[in-house]
This record gives sequence, C-alpha cells and structure tokens, in this order.
Amino acid sequence: MSEAFPAGSPAAPKITRRQTRSVRVGDLTIGSSSKISVQSMCATKTQDLEATKAQLSLLAEHGADIIRIAIDSRKDVEALAELRKGTKARLVVDLQESYKLAKNVAPYVQKIRYNPGHLYHHEKDVPVFEKVKYIVGVARDHDLAVRIGVNFGSLDPAQAAEGKDRFDVALESAREHIGFMEELGFENYVVSLKSSDPNDVMDINLRFAQEFPQIPLHLGVTEAGMLPMGEIKTRVAFENLLAQGIGDTLRVSLTLPYAEKFQEVLVARKIIDDVYAGRFRSVPRFVHQGLNIISCPSCSRVENEAFVELAQKVREMTQEFKERDLTIAVMGCRVNGPGETDDADLGLWCAPNHVNLKRGKELVGQFSYEEIIPKLKAEIGTVLSQRPQ
Ligand code: SF4
Repeated sequence: MSEAFPAGSPAAPKITRRQTRSVRVGDLTIGSSSKISVQSMCATKTQDLEATKAQLSLLAEHGADIIRIAIDSRKDVEALAELRKGTKARLVVDLQESYKLAKNVAPYVQKIRYNPGHLYHHEKDVPVFEKVKYIVGVARDHDLAVRIGVNFGSLDPAQAAEGKDRFDVALESAREHIGFMEELGFENYVVSLKSSDPNDVMDINLRFAQEFPQIPLHLGVTEAGMLPMGEIKTRVAFENLLAQGIGDTLRVSLTLPYAEKFQEVLVARKIIDDVYAGRFRSVPRFVHQGLNIISCPSCSRVENEAFVELAQKVREMTQEFKERDLTIAVMGCRVNGPGETDDADLGLWCAPNHVNLKRGKELVGQFSYEEIIPKLKAEIGTVLSQRPQ
C-alpha cells in the first residue's frame, strides 16, 4: 500500500491510498503511486478562441493538472487545434453523443472522456461495444487515457429499467464498460461515478472501490452549484472518500462566473490539503434539510450566457423558502438538462431563448429569461401548498 502525503498536523490521520494501477495522461500519472491530481473545465464557448485561451491560462496558472474542453462539432475541433498551439496544458475532451470525433480530437489531447449513457443516442444500430472499440482504438493509436464517466443523471437507458435501483444501474454500467476494456486489452483508463447528491457519490464510490480496487477513480459531485454550498456538498463526499484512501484525481464542479472559474482548482486543493492535515469540516453525511439548489458548473455547451446570472437569481429569489425541504435544479443546456432535472422537485434547463420549467419529470412550460423567475416562484408556491407545513 502506498503512503499518504506528508500531513501538516501532528493529529493528522495516516491515510493509506487504495493501491491502484497507474494511468498515463501525457506526462502525468493518475493512480496511487502519484499525488491526487486536480481537474477543471473551460466554461467558455470552445469556438470563442480568445475567451477559451484566457480560460485555459487562468486554470493552468491556478494549478489545474488536466483541463477539460467540450467538443460537439467539427468547428469545435478546428478551434481545439488552434487552442492546442497556444497551451501546454494537458487537455481532455468530453465526447457526448459524437463518439467518432475521438479521431479528430486525438492529436490535440491527452485524454478522452465518454459517458456510457450517451453512447446510445446516435447510430442506434451500431452496438455500443463497437463504439467503445472505436474510441479505444483511437486512444491506443495516440497513447491517450480514457475516462469512463458514469453519471446518475444520464444513466445507460438499456440498463435503467423502470424501478431498478440507480446504484445497481450505475455499477452495472461501469462493470459492462470495464468488461469492454478487458476484452479490448486496454488498461489506460479511469472510472468516475458522479451524482449531484454527495451521499450517492460517497456510497457508489465505496462500492466501486471494493469491487475494483485496482482501477483509479476520478471523484466528482456534479452540479454542486454555487459557493459556499457547492464546496460544502463536495466536501461531504470528498472528505469521506479521501480519508479512506479513495480518489486518484478529482474535480470540484462549481457554478461560477467565467473569470472566477479557477476557484474550482483552489477549492479542490484546499479540500485535499485539509483532509491530509486532519482538518475535517463536513458532517458525516449530507442531510437534506431545507432548500437544496443544484446547478451545473456550465461549460461551452451552455445555451445562453445568462445561465450563471439565472442560477444566482434563483438563489436570491428562493431565500424566503430556505427552511422548506425543496430541491431545485438549474442546468445550462439540453445535453444534461432534461435528465439531470428529473429528480428535483422543480427543474430549470436553458435553451438559447427560453428556459424550460419542469416539475419532477414533467414539463410545466417554456418561458423567457425575463419571465422565468416569477413563474418559478409561482410553481414553488403550488408545490409547497400541496405539502404539510
Ligand atoms: S448541463 Fe450542459 S452547460 Fe451545464 S455543465 Fe453540463 S453540459 Fe455543460
């Protein structure tokens, strides 16, 4: 077992990292033989070269070990090629449905992330194994790492039969893709199992770590939202997992204005340092009491740049309901918006010129950015009036 990093306080716990294999991401290694690496993601439009260059520099200057960029089109790939010329940062590209773009992005990145739940939407007649084989073939040819990114908000529809436990579906999806990797003889990959609920993140990663002790884990609480709650939610999961030696790389996903995106890196480093120095700040589990706002960290897919402001307005408007048990999800785009709002009491997801308002899985309506806050307030009133005080 590898030893923990030197701890800062005499009372610091002796943390023993879970012994994993090593995954190469360019000149960086992810796994128990290396320090826990910190990742972040550009929130700017990938094709806005000036803004994205500035975002890459900002994140790199603040110590991001790996920086993710969203790529959805060939124009995004052209932008990526330009961005590559101006940065030495280790880049990871997030493939959503467009798995074939792997080949186009490969010369410019060190790592590719795919989500098993998103490999079903395009080319439905192509077996998922063939799509993974394609991605792995590209990764092998270009010596890239791969992340299998399972997300509770976009679980594999083939596994997620109605009524099936989400934990079982997420683990089964990870197992299936690990099986694909084994069949393809590919080992340079990490796995992530993310949810917007820190308790889920804690529980599923513990289960995964027991079943697959050798596979490096990327930790993350998705849509942790704005500070300070975004940090608190993330701490609940990370403090528990890191203290048990689980977690080899991680990202703190915060909803922040673009110019402050580097806070993701600083908060991540602070959490790691605190854990290794024995400074724990969270409660053992996240207790859902009162208002819970989930909001995505935004990325280049965000449909309208008013998103961050919208998330802040939702927080301000809902202060009067802060004692009520209510979960509101605010999401930036159609990629994850529809699915990730399903489990919230009320959900908003952004389109270019309107915001979709949902109650649970049902669409209430589509409203302009000016109309949405009063509409949401009215809907909160309706939901709460149907509950006991
Ligand atoms: S919901 Fe959309 S905009 Fe927000 S982080 Fe996810 S992909 Fe990006």
